[in-house]
Amino acid sequence: MARIVILGAGIAGHTAALHAKRVLGRNNEVIVISPNSQWNWIPSNIWVGVGKMTQNQVTFPLAPIYRRKGIIFHQALAKNLYPEGDATESNPFVEIQYTDPSMNGLTARIKYDFLVNATGPKLNFAATTGLGPDGFTVSVCTAGHANEASRALKECISRMKEGNRQSLAIGVGHGTCTCEGAAFEYTFNVEHEIRVAGVRELADITYITNENELGDFGVGGLVFTQNGFQTTSELWTQSLFRERGIHAVVGAHVEKIEKGIIHYELVDGSRNTLSFDFAMLLPPFRGVDLKAFDSHGIDISEKIFAPSGFMKVDADYTAKPYEQWRTEDWPKTYQNPTFPNMYAVGIAFAPPHQISKPLKSANGTLIAPSPPRTGMPSGIMGKLAILSIREVLAHGPDAILPTASMSDMGAACVASAGSGLRKGSAASMTMYPIVPDYVKYPNTGRSLEDTFGEIGLSGHWIKLLLHYMFIYKAKARLGWSFIPE
Ligand SMILES: Cc1cc2nc3c(=O)[nH]c(=O)nc-3n(C[C@H](O)[C@H](O)[C@H](O)COP(=O)(O)OP(=O)(O)OC[C@H]3O[C@@H](n4cnc5c(N)ncnc54)[C@H](O)[C@@H]3O)c2cc1C
Repeated sequence: MARIVILGAGIAGHTAALHAKRVLGRNNEVIVISPNSQWNWIPSNIWVGVGKMTQNQVTFPLAPIYRRKGIIFHQALAKNLYPEGDATESNPFVEIQYTDPSMNGLTARIKYDFLVNATGPKLNFAATTGLGPDGFTVSVCTAGHANEASRALKECISRMKEGNRQSLAIGVGHGTCTCEGAAFEYTFNVEHEIRVAGVRELADITYITNENELGDFGVGGLVFTQNGFQTTSELWTQSLFRERGIHAVVGAHVEKIEKGIIHYELVDGSRNTLSFDFAMLLPPFRGVDLKAFDSHGIDISEKIFAPSGFMKVDADYTAKPYEQWRTEDWPKTYQNPTFPNMYAVGIAFAPPHQISKPLKSANGTLIAPSPPRTGMPSGIMGKLAILSIREVLAHGPDAILPTASMSDMGAACVASAGSGLRKGSAASMTMYPIVPDYVKYPNTGRSLEDTFGEIGLSGHWIKLLLHYMFIYKAKARLGWSFIPE
């Protein structure tokens, strides 16, 4: 019997856990270690952040699902990995610290045969002074953050209703952030809510982003066909901003935030400020605070993790200029090269480089969107790791593993632009592949047949459908495994 330990119960980890029990569970043990008692459908946090959904509508407790499925759950933080064991334990193990209120602070060692690291991002608010809920801005990264954002937005709208002009800044809080799509979505939802509240003329809304041009989304932008014409995500998003009267600041690195003031630097090296009464800025991500030790207790974290804190996998991490980046640089199996019984999936794996062209400001500051690892690829990778483990269990260490590179994987993203069954709208985008392949698709980097963008009410319905469908799947209800990742 093998023991599969999964760190993290987000989109990648929870998908991995359910599939692990389904395909390996009969004769093997599946253990999940994650600090939160709740699962969160993060994409719908956008709607919590504008008061259109409650925290309870986007979360549910994990323990009953795991109990029903026969998955062992430790509500705990993974702290230290010992992939070779140590002086007293010859098997690999992970040291954990419980966050479960009944065992809070206690530690334990959990042995494993296979480890799937799906710990997602550390929300690195500390990278920018004054950023985040402990500073002067709100966030929508967790359901709790989104609740706070909704409260702050309500107050801002109340001030407008009293006749006061308000400045709203929405975007990303550092030059190396990712997830611009989420900031874009929140901007349009906020604008929609203010319009519905009847105070639009009193709101100055600014989108502030590290993207070098609108519509980049950290993937270098998209080219697609619409109504028979080729267009770009840049042109498309520019019109969305123009139609809604939203001002955009692009190519910005937010340096510091003070009460009501964002200090930022632009690619040309100029330094500027933006005043705000309400600001939602996403933080940059880094790997969570996991460390790794060898059997002698020597810290080998640098060998296992990239400087960003994310776990190294089967990618080509050789530093090369943008012009030399190749689709082959991207990982295919998400297996750790030093310890093949460890996999890192979803946001937890270290990408080889950005997808968008990285820029440096005239002062040498890096202004470069990090590559997004959105929900769909994260779920696919979670399942893939389990299918690989099944192959290794069946055929031994020389098993041929299934592959799913982001340079050979598509993604669909539906960015809500306002909630409402009759008046809502959303920008729906699909792209294939996520990492552009200029050898296969010389002009556009992506297949024109499989890359597409559309905005309208139907997108809102799709987004709402996805909300219910993925929560249904995550609750492992009847037929869940037929719903694709
Ligand atoms: C506001 C917002 C909106 C988004 N909207 C979309 C969208 O519309 N479509 C889309 O495709 N993607 C969207 N995304 C991105 C999507 O949420 C991520 O791609 C996805 O959550 C990544 O999955 P993951 O499992 O890697 O990380 P997560 O889902 O963040 O899960 C990480 C898990 O690891 C746990 N963990 C953390 N530290 C430890 C530790 N030390 N030990 C054990 N466990 C740990 C966490 O508690 C969590 O359970 C959005 C993201 C944000 C922030």
